[in-house]
Amino acid sequence: MREYLKFYIDGQWVDPTTPKTAEVINPATEAVSGTISLGSAADVDKAVAAARRAFASWGETSVKDRLDILLAIQSEYAKRSDELGDAVVEEMGAPVGLGRGFHVGLGAGHLQTAIDVLKEFPFEQQKGASLIRYEPIGVCGLITPWNWPMNQTCVKIFPALAAGCTMILKPPQLAPYSAQILAEIIHDAGTPAGVFNMVQGQGSVIGTALSTHQDVDMISFTGSEPVGVQIQKDAAETVKRVGLELGGKSAWIVLDDADLAANVAGATGGMMGNSGQTCSAGSRLLVPASRLDEAVKAATEACNAVTVGDPLTDVAMGPVVSKSQFNIIQDYIQKGLDEGATLIAGGLGRPDGLDKGWFVKPTVFVGTNDMVISREEIFGPVLVIIPYQDEADAIRIANDSLFGLGGYVSGQDADKCRQIARKLRTGAIWVNGGFDFHAPFGGYKRSGNGREWGEYGFHEYLEIKSIIG
Ligand code: NDP
Repeated sequence: MREYLKFYIDGQWVDPTTPKTAEVINPATEAVSGTISLGSAADVDKAVAAARRAFASWGETSVKDRLDILLAIQSEYAKRSDELGDAVVEEMGAPVGLGRGFHVGLGAGHLQTAIDVLKEFPFEQQKGASLIRYEPIGVCGLITPWNWPMNQTCVKIFPALAAGCTMILKPPQLAPYSAQILAEIIHDAGTPAGVFNMVQGQGSVIGTALSTHQDVDMISFTGSEPVGVQIQKDAAETVKRVGLELGGKSAWIVLDDADLAANVAGATGGMMGNSGQTCSAGSRLLVPASRLDEAVKAATEACNAVTVGDPLTDVAMGPVVSKSQFNIIQDYIQKGLDEGATLIAGGLGRPDGLDKGWFVKPTVFVGTNDMVISREEIFGPVLVIIPYQDEADAIRIANDSLFGLGGYVSGQDADKCRQIARKLRTGAIWVNGGFDFHAPFGGYKRSGNGREWGEYGFHEYLEIKSIIG
């Protein structure tokens, strides 16, 4: 049983101003796995004051000083990576291979990327008659979701540290353990007091206190659209910068010349990874109408092959994060059935043999783009296959969404795939797979306004100053 009752403020582990606790539930067993403290606005005030004090010196440190700290964090992170992975498995139900592997690896990748970018980053540039300086924005509030806990925290903390900012992290209540260990790592690396602070608690309390705080200069938020909207409203009074990374309903276009069976299988398996709880998941699979039968066969086989069960074993998919998330997904599956979408795999209820834990059946529908299951983010292992007539139709369908986060194009002709990618109104498009820590990640439209990852992630935490003449 884990017990994390202290917050990390000003380089110390401190008690909450007013004691209040909450239990954390293991989604695979529905049993209590530990207890955390829930903070208050008074704890946020203390953390912000510490961050403000620390900014006076951290904001003036040399690149070399900040690199030294990032390298020390990297060494501590490596020592505790399995522990971090196990925390992710326990808090949000990722299978152990995924938790110890990709979840922790994403955090390590963002750390390495921050180190690489910091070495080369042009904090000062002469442009014509002017000296352009990039300066740290100041005290940052970082508010993160539970779905990829290490990715979401590390993609904010390390560029912010590298840029010379100080910060207060508000981890998700559903997945608070890995953030706690990360705070220990940052402390053990010798990060100066007040540079990094962490207060656990409810978004409506801690998040609001950060968003409205006079002395917080920017908020970086990853999460749902309604909360993103609320944060922008809360932050408006103090005119602070707000970076939003929100949801998605990304389209995966399989072109006629692609290996259809392999791509449909890949897209189906990809959708079920992390139990479908990935903002950039290709949740709408667009296939040529003339080859729909072939696609249905491949998707059914791939979906039925996804193993679901105890995340401590070698399964492809664990539970979803919570009872409430389970119920939301069940409601969407019911909506799909009510709307007349054709269910080709999965469906309502838990998979056979799993009567405890928030396990969902990997599910595939064939539908149309006007259905609710094609328009709203389900954030679960539910894929909708949508047939298209020609490439123009595929582009039209892909862009017919309130969201614009990710996209995928598969085909033999890379130039043609890129031509299609250029026409998609989304922040990132993967052409025949690929992965790049240096590629900017963020949304068009309702998917947000920020860009994280790589050098672009640094700019979230920097002000631009012109010294003219
Ligand atoms: P939420 O928006 O519910 O929560 C995200 C964080 O915001 C949590 O820490 C939450 O706290 C906090 N929060 C809640 N209310 C407020 C508030 N009023 N003010 C400030 N903070 C608040 O999202 P989920 O955690 O449910 O995450 C899933 C969503 O995140 C999906 O929509 C997904 O698409 C999106 N997402 C986007 C990504 C991107 O990069 N674009 C990446 C990953 C996820 P609490 O712990 O109390 O809930």
